[in-house]
Amino acid sequence: MAESRRLFFALTLPSEVQQQIIHWRAAEFPADAGRPVAAANLHLTLAFLGDVSEEKCRALSRLAGRIRQPGFNLKLDDAGQWLRSSVVWMGPRQAPRGLLQLANMLRSQAARSGCYQSPLPFHPHITLYRNAIRPVALPAPGFSWQFRVEEFSLYQSIFEQGRTRYQTLERWPLTNKEE
Ligand code: ATP
Ligand code: MG
Repeated sequence: MAESRRLFFALTLPSEVQQQIIHWRAAEFPADAGRPVAAANLHLTLAFLGDVSEEKCRALSRLAGRIRQPGFNLKLDDAGQWLRSSVVWMGPRQAPRGLLQLANMLRSQAARSGCYQSPLPFHPHITLYRNAIRPVALPAPGFSWQFRVEEFSLYQSIFEQGRTRYQTLERWPLTNKEE
């Protein structure tokens, strides 16, 4: 069988924002909220692709490289818990149009390429804790982390030595201009 890799498109958080978020998380969430996601792993998934062959990966990469849209500002000012998947997350109260447009485009390209299709609507979020089995007290509203998004990436998810890490395979700038 041909090799396949577990892939997803996502936005990376600037490393200073990753650091700010983990300090805020440590201060605002109970210590037993769940398994905290490592700072370097904080990301916002745009489209999960599942196991993808080399050939399909090349096709997806070509399509992603054709996307032309400007960057956008992302404001993270909401948090919640999904008991069904046992995650605590943060995200935008109001998703910027550019974010929805980018995720929709990547999701439909993935669907047309025959990749895994999520049955769930796109709900932009950054997972803060996994294995959050019991209801967690959430921080009071009023927090807000803001940054500019100027690129998106294709990641491989690698599970080794009992840990998941993500490897960036490719990155594309968000710009209206032809290079
Ligand atoms: P782990 O599952 O090892 O605890 P992880 O969930 O971060 O870690 P992956 O399962 O490889 O690693 O997922 C990579 C990204 O894709 C994560 O953002 C995850 O939430 C998302 N993802 C995983 N499975 C699905 C799915 N079935 N539908 C939508 N998104 C998914
Ligand atoms: Mg997972």
